[in-house]
Amino acid sequence: MFLKFMNITTIKSIKDIPQEENLSPGTPTCAGCGGLLSLRHCLKVLGENIVVVNAAGCFTLLAVYPFTPFKSSWLYTAMACAPAGAQGIRDALDILIRKGRLDLKENVKVVVLTGDGVAYDIGLASTSGALYRNLDFYYICSDNEAYGNTGFQSSGATPFASKTGTTPIGRISPTGLELPKKNLFEIWRSHTPPYLATISPAHPVDLINKFKKAEQYKGPKLFINLSPCPAGWVTDPSHSAKFARLAVDTGIWALKEAIYGEVKHTVVPKSFRPVEEYLKGQGRFAHLFKPVRQEETLKRVQEMVDQYWDNARSSESRKR
Ligand code: SF4
Repeated sequence: MFLKFMNITTIKSIKDIPQEENLSPGTPTCAGCGGLLSLRHCLKVLGENIVVVNAAGCFTLLAVYPFTPFKSSWLYTAMACAPAGAQGIRDALDILIRKGRLDLKENVKVVVLTGDGVAYDIGLASTSGALYRNLDFYYICSDNEAYGNTGFQSSGATPFASKTGTTPIGRISPTGLELPKKNLFEIWRSHTPPYLATISPAHPVDLINKFKKAEQYKGPKLFINLSPCPAGWVTDPSHSAKFARLAVDTGIWALKEAIYGEVKHTVVPKSFRPVEEYLKGQGRFAHLFKPVRQEETLKRVQEMVDQYWDNARSSESRKR
C-alpha cells in the first residue's frame, strides 16, 4: 500500500519495505550492530548510485580492501574531515555534470557516514561548515553513545549515568557519566538545514519514509540513528531491536524531524513506559540496579525524559 505525500511516495507498513539490498551480508561489524541494521534500510532508499564518505569509526570495519559490502563507491577519511571529503566529491561531480561527462539523471548522491564521536565531537566544526555552505549531501550519524570501536569511551553523545571506558564505576563515582547527552539535533537545527531527523533500527517504516521525504530537498539532509551496540551496551546481540524499540517506547529517544527548522515528532507512544525498562538489562547501566538501587539517579533520568516531553507538548500547543 503506497501513500502519496507532498509528491513523495511513502510506505505504510513493513511489507512495503523495498526488497532490493545495497549492502551485502557478512560485514566485519559486531553481530547485532544497531547502526548496521539501520544502514541497510537507509541504503534501500539511497540506492546504489551514491558515493559513501566514511569517517574513521565503527564503519571503518565495513570496507576492508579488496572487500566491500557496498554496491557503491566508498571514500575513507580521517575523523574530522568527512564533510570536507563530501564537498570535494560533490564539486567533482558537479564539474563532470557541467562538462557533460556525467548525466544529471544519474543523480549521484554524496553520503557521509560517521559515528557519534565524529558527529558530536571531533567533526562538529566541519559539519557546521558544510551546513553553512548548504552542501548538497546526506549525513548519517550512527549514534551508539560512545567511542565504540576503541573501547567504548565517553563521547558527547554518552547519556547521563552510563558506564564507559572513561567513566568506570567506583566508590568515588558510583553514577557513571555525570554529564547529560549533548543535544546534537538542536545544534544542527540551529543551522536550519532543509531536512534533519532522528531514526531507529526498530522503526524501519518511519526511517524509510524520512529518507524518501528528504530526497526532495537540495542541501544538507541529516540523520541521527540511535544504534544499540551489544559490545558497549553489554547486551545480547539478538536484543538490539528490543532496546531500540524500548528507547522510543520509554521516550528516551524521540523520533522526530525538522524541515527548515520546523520540528515534528513522527512516532509518539500513546503512553510512555517507565524509562527503567530501557535501562534495565543493559550492562552499561547495571550499577544503577546492583548491588543497590540508585533511586536518586533513576529518578533523575526519568525527570530528564519527562521534562523533554513536557517541553515538546507545550511547544506543539503553542503552534496550534
Ligand atoms: S562496537 Fe558497537 S557500534 Fe561498533 S560495530 Fe560493534 S556493535 Fe556496532
